[in-house]
Amino acid sequence: MATKRDYYEILGVPRSASKDEIKGSYRKLAMQFHPDRNKDAGAEEKFKEISEAYAVLSDEQKKRTYDQYGHSGFDQRYTQEDIFRNANFDDIFREFGFGGGPFEDMFSGMFGMGGGRRRGEVGHDLRYDMEISLEEAAKGVSKEVEYAHTVACNHCKGSGGEQGSGIKTCAKCGGRGQVQQIRNMGPFGRMVTASTCPSCRGVGRSFEKECKECYGKGAVRKNEKLEIRVPAGVESGSRIKYKGMGEFGKDGSGDLYIIIGVREHPDFVREGEDLHMDVAVGIVQAALGAEIEVPTLFGKVKMKIPAGTQPHEKFRLRGEGMPHVRGKGRGDLYVRVRVQVPSKLSEKQKSLLKEFEKESKKGVIDRMFG
Ligand SMILES: [Zn+2]
Ligand SMILES: [Zn+2]
Repeated sequence: MATKRDYYEILGVPRSASKDEIKGSYRKLAMQFHPDRNKDAGAEEKFKEISEAYAVLSDEQKKRTYDQYGHSGFDQRYTQEDIFRNANFDDIFREFGFGGGPFEDMFSGMFGMGGGRRRGEVGHDLRYDMEISLEEAAKGVSKEVEYAHTVACNHCKGSGGEQGSGIKTCAKCGGRGQVQQIRNMGPFGRMVTASTCPSCRGVGRSFEKECKECYGKGAVRKNEKLEIRVPAGVESGSRIKYKGMGEFGKDGSGDLYIIIGVREHPDFVREGEDLHMDVAVGIVQAALGAEIEVPTLFGKVKMKIPAGTQPHEKFRLRGEGMPHVRGKGRGDLYVRVRVQVPSKLSEKQKSLLKEFEKESKKGVIDRMFG
């Protein structure tokens, strides 16, 4: 391999150049050498060189490594693929009006960064919505879910090729893994978009003989049964991740996300780890005080209400709320008292209440004149 030129020299900036100066210089050079604009021999090579220099010098950590160790030390620490990973070309190229997908894909197609993980070959994530009751959320629950996903084909072990089959370069994309669409935008020039080759799905190669079980896809559909363990205290909207249980991909399967939805309860309203509920008590219980039974998510408990309890007064039952999803203990249960005024009274009840009223008035008069 020829000796690499200094990255600063390539971009034509001094070592003391600021971030903006580096970006500005790269932008100018990229405008000049972008393969969509410049068809001269060597333009693509030049574009690659300046892009690599920019990818390194625009990344603080990579720049520091390069400044300290130069090419030899840098190349020991970073591969070609590492250099372009996370490099942000997108906003620069958006400014140019080069449309199209993620620039990283374009680089991998153009520079043939083989062997690396290509984004397109990691399987998709799957989502499964699961509804549980508030009681189940309070105690935790195990539930079996059934779903379908793709897994590696057994016959070809996920490769997509028949055993012993030769490999040929993809005819559609010529091995680049990308296909370009060029649209003429009149006075605005051409718009080039690159997308993953539909024929080889970005690999650039295909088998001469496709696997007869999966028709070259490398994957087959499978129904899956999975025991999902939902922890006590789970909140609505929580995600439980099952790594690698999503769709098959040649560079790794996607993940399965179980999204928990906790149904509303007719009696309890949840607020974080606390619960709220209403209980009805009679006027006599409220006036004289009483011990009442209150339902909780964990069984019935006894609660004392003091004499003279007013309508809508709230009482707290410590530790009768939802469990903390991490750590120990539970939230509280707030009980709001609804004082029920009787609507149907017997003659006897009426006369007793009248008697009560007379007694009450007497008390008022006594206090007024006493
Ligand atoms: Zn197969
Ligand atoms: Zn192809």
